[in-house]
Order: sequence, then structure tokens, then C-alpha cells
Amino acid sequence: MKELKFKPKDLNKSLVKQQKVSLENQLELCKCYDLLDKTIQEANESTNMVFIKNQASKVEVLEFELQRLWNFDIDKEYHRYWLDFNACRCPRMDNLERLGYGRIVNLNCPLHGDDK
Ligand SMILES: [Zn+2]
Repeated sequence: MKELKFKPKDLNKSLVKQQKVSLENQLELCKCYDLLDKTIQEANESTNMVFIKNQASKVEVLEFELQRLWNFDIDKEYHRYWLDFNACRCPRMDNLERLGYGRIVNLNCPLHGDDK
């Protein structure tokens, strides 16, 4: 197995306990976080908007996967990594403060401006 940057010990322990996350899922979570990091980093090093949008779609899939592995409800309203793209022009802090209550999207954001 490839060495993980993100280790099970890096996971929030009380959350692991609260959500009863199995050891197997903890390892899967680490793989997901590694991939998430890499995907966002690659996007942020690029100026190719098609590539960046594609990376953003991958991150969305990963966010759903994270929710599943954490035994959380599968709910797009609680996603947060879509705000980590340098190309994103949506208000980051406002969105993080109101997770679960609907997104505030900047219509001029090249990544999310046309979200329905
Ligand atoms: Zn955006």
C-alpha cells in the first residue's frame, strides 16, 4: 500500500468515536483526504479552467465519499472543500459559518457561478 500522508491518528478522535467509524473506514478516510489535498493542489497550480473545473467535480465526488465514510448524512449543503480552490470567488468565511443553510454563490465565480 502506498504511504499515506494523512494517518488515522490525524483524524478527529472524538468524531471517530461519536460516529463509530470502523478502522477500515478510517483508512479509507485517510486515502480520501490525501486525494482531496492532491486534487485541490493540482487545481491551484493550474491556470487551465477546464482542468480546474474537472478537479472541482472530482472534489465534489470525494466530499460525498467523506460523508459516507464518516457515517454522516449525504448532503451537499455540508460540503466545504469546494471553497478551497483559488479560482473560486464565492465568499469563503460566510459559507463556512453557515454550513447546512444553503450556499452563498458569487454569480461571477468561474467555478460555481452557474450552479443551479
Ligand atoms: Zn465559487
